[in-house]
Amino acid sequence: MIPLAERTAKYCQRKRNMPSDKAILLPGLQTYQEREAALLAPYAMRSGDSAGRKYVEPEHPYRGPFQRDRDRILHCSAYRRLSGKMQVFTGEMGDYHRTRLTHTQEVASIARTIGRALQLNEDLIEALALFHDIGHPPFGHAGEDALDECLQGEGGFSHNEHALTIAEEIDVRYHGFPGLNLTREVLDGQGVRADKQNPGLKPLLEVQLVDAADSITYDAHDTDDAVKLGLLSLDELAEVPLTREMLRRVNDRFSGLSPRVLRLMLVHELIDYQVSDVLRRCGQYLATAGLQTAQQARLAPFLIGPSEPVAVQKAELERLLYDRVYRHPDIIRVREQAQSRLRKMFAGYVRQPELLPKGYRTRSESVGLKRSVGEFIAGMTDRYCNEQYERHFSS
Ligand code: MG
Repeated sequence: MIPLAERTAKYCQRKRNMPSDKAILLPGLQTYQEREAALLAPYAMRSGDSAGRKYVEPEHPYRGPFQRDRDRILHCSAYRRLSGKMQVFTGEMGDYHRTRLTHTQEVASIARTIGRALQLNEDLIEALALFHDIGHPPFGHAGEDALDECLQGEGGFSHNEHALTIAEEIDVRYHGFPGLNLTREVLDGQGVRADKQNPGLKPLLEVQLVDAADSITYDAHDTDDAVKLGLLSLDELAEVPLTREMLRRVNDRFSGLSPRVLRLMLVHELIDYQVSDVLRRCGQYLATAGLQTAQQARLAPFLIGPSEPVAVQKAELERLLYDRVYRHPDIIRVREQAQSRLRKMFAGYVRQPELLPKGYRTRSESVGLKRSVGEFIAGMTDRYCNEQYERHFSS
């Protein structure tokens, strides 16, 4: 048996001259390369095959590159601020429902469950999931639409693109380079979200998976939150085939459930049903397609996602959520108020750039005042946004 240190050194030599002294710093511990070799399927993205970072950095002694990406995202301020950003429902509506942060954590959890079962790279999946909504402005899509409107003529605003700006320029946490210096794979994965029309090479399976997990997550938790908040009833949910079937399954297994427990069981069932469907469909394909590398998987005529019947069922549920929840008068009122505030704030900061923090004033010299104002507002939590509005622009 070749000693671990020697094996690691050989591996590092093979893999683009990775500095092996770092990798063997802690002898006796399994390296991330060894872990991946033992756990991942051939079609998974290997850390050793990463295209690397823009600014070259030494290897970490025991964390792989995607693990480091995950940690960098987790520790950055834009990630923490997700706790103060609404998903669909605002803070005034109670404290049961999801915030942008808890949504993100649920996506990461569901994505990792699917990724582990399909033997994909969980570290990359987790990094992508924690990163995916980091560019969201305050007040969810209402805030995004308002900023997009304010920045018309300046390239508009997209939360997916803004995530990349945060990671590459805004969130400065390290000496020697701006942003988080994430791996190409995480940036490219987010790039696909930002430019869905791009007909280029299909994303890695890990990227496809996070997109599918995002959809599973919000379909389930928006249903839960909407019923809890009284915007949607269980009877209304029985109008669409997907939730009707989930309710039937729950009622078949248990009798005499209270509406509260029925709602909770419905949500468990919704997640389990969707995850099992993705695993059945994708597991079967990946087990027999003979894909030997992550790059081959990108070329295959296949995308990770639900089966056709479940995709149709999900679309029906999403239409119900759109009509009865996202367009509910209470939500529309919040949306309109938020948008009017954001428009006023945007115009106000452009008129009085001296109100901007120093960093954004400096940034305006390179990206332009309007873009810089948009980015400053995008970074705000809902509460901070309201405070700044009241303080400077409410009269
Ligand atoms: Mg999301």
